[in-house]
Amino acid sequence: VKRIKVLGEQDIRRSLLRIAHEILERNRGLEDLVLLGILTRGAYLAERLAGFLKSVEGKPVSVGKLDVGPFRDDEKRTEQDLSEIPFDLHDKIVVLVDDVLFTGRTVRAALDAVSKRGRPRAVQLAVLVDRGHRELPIRADFVGKNLPTSKTRERINVCLKECDGEDAVYIVHL
Ligand code: 5GP
Ligand code: MG
Repeated sequence: VKRIKVLGEQDIRRSLLRIAHEILERNRGLEDLVLLGILTRGAYLAERLAGFLKSVEGKPVSVGKLDVGPFRDDEKRTEQDLSEIPFDLHDKIVVLVDDVLFTGRTVRAALDAVSKRGRPRAVQLAVLVDRGHRELPIRADFVGKNLPTSKTRERINVCLKECDGEDAVYIVHL
């Protein structure tokens, strides 16, 4: 197993700060905007993005945690819903946040989970890494880094201080 570091702590920081600026540019500020981080690492990234958004705009943004487990259509489906969304999604601009975009099936499930709770005005997608190989017509609006990978022989390893003790992104050759 060979592991190559492709993003370090500063790279991740700059990517998230850029994405925060892109979100503000696209939506002309924070009005009606909420972030939903897909558990587990997407939720940490959403909290970090919220911090950058606040530092740029001087206003807080609501952040929720979205559990897509119960809405999956594959073997990864789970019963329990660990979502924490203490606000209404009706008419909001929802920015979904995840660490890696791959087939798109997680995001499809996230759209299901969101629609169950209300009808946002718009849903956008921010991901730290897009590794390609979509199986559904889904794309990200905001991308930290595009990392073309082999579908079967490589994986992305996203490490975040909150759960892994360091900030780094690796390509792992299986
Ligand atoms: P998808 O559902 O698009 O196939 O995969 C995206 C979801 O699975 C994300 O929530 C992500 O956390 C996880 N995932 C898929 N591929 C990878 C990968 O190579 N590395 C990591 N860290 N997560 C992945
Ligand atoms: Mg995930």
